[in-house]
Amino acid sequence: MNEVRIRGMAKINLALDVLGKRPNGYHDVSMIMQTVGLYDELYIAKKDTPGIAVFCDTEELPCDEHNLIYKAAKLILTHTKTKSGVSIHLQKNIPIAAGMAGGSTDAAATLIGINRLFELSLDYEILESLAVQIGADVPYCLHGGTYLSEGIGEILKPLPKMPGAYLVIAKPDINVSTAFVYQNLKLQEITVHPDISGMIGAITNGDIHGVADRLANVLETVTIPAYPQIEQMKQCLLANGAMGALMSGSGPTVFGLFEQEKTAKTAYEQLVKTGLVRQGCVTGFMHETCVME
Ligand code: ATP
Repeated sequence: MNEVRIRGMAKINLALDVLGKRPNGYHDVSMIMQTVGLYDELYIAKKDTPGIAVFCDTEELPCDEHNLIYKAAKLILTHTKTKSGVSIHLQKNIPIAAGMAGGSTDAAATLIGINRLFELSLDYEILESLAVQIGADVPYCLHGGTYLSEGIGEILKPLPKMPGAYLVIAKPDINVSTAFVYQNLKLQEITVHPDISGMIGAITNGDIHGVADRLANVLETVTIPAYPQIEQMKQCLLANGAMGALMSGSGPTVFGLFEQEKTAKTAYEQLVKTGLVRQGCVTGFMHETCVME
């Protein structure tokens, strides 16, 4: 095998709670993670010369050691003492710095792809130990589907499959730094926390309305006052038939849940008409993150 093609799926947070801050600055979280049908594509090939070469189809991303793909490739090749080099081409579709774990999923896809390409036979336990060195969300991205994520994001419990629904996903024309959001989060002032156990119950019962009613993200307390267009986009989705709408992760991406595909498509068209959307799509839930083509 000389080349693998792999898709890294984006995630949304159906619920995101922050429980506390550790002395090292990391936050303890409780999140319900869900893979969605929006993906980056990676083409990973062996090359004759040693070293890692990353190519991106966007100038917004670095192609050097700052790219999480490069970090993941270096980690797994060093861990397995693999001498051969790789070249990795990234086709970026997931909005960047948007709260959709795009970088983390690329890193996870790289670990899985290189494991397959060089027939390294590393099991998930080893891959997870490498993944967590890259970022707290990367172990989740190795698996994908529906998970409860705790600790700093690395403690994972699989949940039953999500009931089907259509999703509108849209990133507004703004950039929000994750560091800004966490630095401005006033934990003591948060009185209403997401009903995580209620949402797990709704997922278990296949109750999509129960899920929609419990969508909640404490990070909205920082982003919405700073960027009111996030609330405007949520309201537009709700006014156009969404069962629920929420910001994902530290934002600024917003999503809405719909029962019918037609309603979701119409709502997306209406949202685009507001002029607030930079990138978006209509999609659904997925049950795994990295699909080998
Ligand atoms: P999360 O939901 O985990 O907070 P995010 O969606 O907010 O992630 P990413 O798109 O993963 O953010 O990118 C965060 C930063 O990581 C960006 O500033 C980007 O420059 C850097 N980065 C490095 N490699 C990648 C990559 N392959 N894809 C996207 N971003 C990358």
